[in-house]
Amino acid sequence: MTSTDLNPFAIAQQQLDEAAEKLGLDQATREFLRWPLREFVVTIPLRMDDGSVKIFRGYRVQYNHARGPTKGGLRWHPDETIDTVRALAAWMTWKTSVVDIPLGGGKGGITCNPKELSETEKERLARAYIRAVGRLLGVTKDVPAPDVYTTPQIMAWMMDEFETIEKEAHPGVITGKPLALGGSQGRGDATARGGVYCVREAAKMLGLDLKGKTAAIQGFGNAGQYGAILGQEILGLKIVAASDSRGGVYNPDGLDAQALVDYKLRTGKIDGFKNSKPISNEEILELDVAVLFPSALENVITGRNAARIKAKISCELANGPTTPEADKILYEKGVFVLPDFLANAGGVTVSYFEQVQNTYNFYWPLEEVHSRLDEKMTKAFHAVYEMHKKEKVHMRLAAYMVAVNRVAEACKLRGWV
Ligand code: NAD
Repeated sequence: MTSTDLNPFAIAQQQLDEAAEKLGLDQATREFLRWPLREFVVTIPLRMDDGSVKIFRGYRVQYNHARGPTKGGLRWHPDETIDTVRALAAWMTWKTSVVDIPLGGGKGGITCNPKELSETEKERLARAYIRAVGRLLGVTKDVPAPDVYTTPQIMAWMMDEFETIEKEAHPGVITGKPLALGGSQGRGDATARGGVYCVREAAKMLGLDLKGKTAAIQGFGNAGQYGAILGQEILGLKIVAASDSRGGVYNPDGLDAQALVDYKLRTGKIDGFKNSKPISNEEILELDVAVLFPSALENVITGRNAARIKAKISCELANGPTTPEADKILYEKGVFVLPDFLANAGGVTVSYFEQVQNTYNFYWPLEEVHSRLDEKMTKAFHAVYEMHKKEKVHMRLAAYMVAVNRVAEACKLRGWV
């Protein structure tokens, strides 16, 4: 496999092409949906704590707004590139469509290593990013949210900078904010909760009883930590392994998810957790478990290891963990994949609820957020599952067919294609 094969945007285009072919979309619509409508690249000088100046590259891609203003997270990662952002923005477009919320897709980020930045440097970087791209943002234009290595605190600084520039309140300009600044109840665990609801529905369709069955979590941040806690709480799964960027821990008798999260939050790592032995990120993916939650980054299940994946269900909380080559192998092997832009759509769904509450200036109790999220995710799962059965295609292609069809229809109704 070459590096071009693993370019996330090339993969996103390849996935779209397959769906467009299956849907019989006309040539203009296909070509139109293969590219972002707009993309911005900015250069940000940042005064470091020691007085020196470092230069950072930032991005915001607005992929498609046919169904509503663009929406999508901000990733701060050393490997961030325009192509990663384009891919993630494309997947956001299909994600908002598959859960049928009136938004389009966008994404942004900064190439940086937040682990090397102090809190004050992070604050200055967050504010500088808003000064650079703020003119593109707003509830009727484009609304960012957290993603890898960005937090509710970073969202708070960004909202404050935007409001300072605009000289009025704009709480809905960004989501994933802390509760005290207009965040929504239930946003913290929404991504994982949506994925867990999908696993629940999948188990019903597949006739699997998950109580007491095993699960492994690759990636132990926001998505993975709540995946472990809610997998245990809602599905009765036994979490036997988890990993972060430094490696993983394994105990065939089960790990206490909440205790492992507390340990990670206290120490910043998961290795060394009590009653566990080390396991690598590669090994964790190949464990014989009922449910695997890929919850870190792209391209971890590829043509190289797909044949060795033994999980019954792979619930992709991460974006882009599986390559198209691996998808075919998993489908033939009978691994039931809950594709990323369906499985992790709970995050953007509750972000949308947050925006709605900000606009109403009226806030919902937690139970209301959970029941509305459950309704959205369950409906989306079954629309995709029906397509999967009807067209005899794997779940990712089925999800693409549902989502792309809706975006294409909106583009046509607008007279764009
Ligand atoms: P996060 O910053 O909270 O955590 C990222 C985690 O991944 C950390 O535990 C880190 O140690 C781990 N990690 C990084 N590199 C790794 C590697 N090479 N191997 C194993 N682990 C590694 O990020 P997050 O919000 O949990 O995002 C994780 C994934 O979920 C991303 O693909 C993101 O796009 C996706 N996602 C997140 C949300 C959300 O609401 N947070 C929504 C949809 C999708």
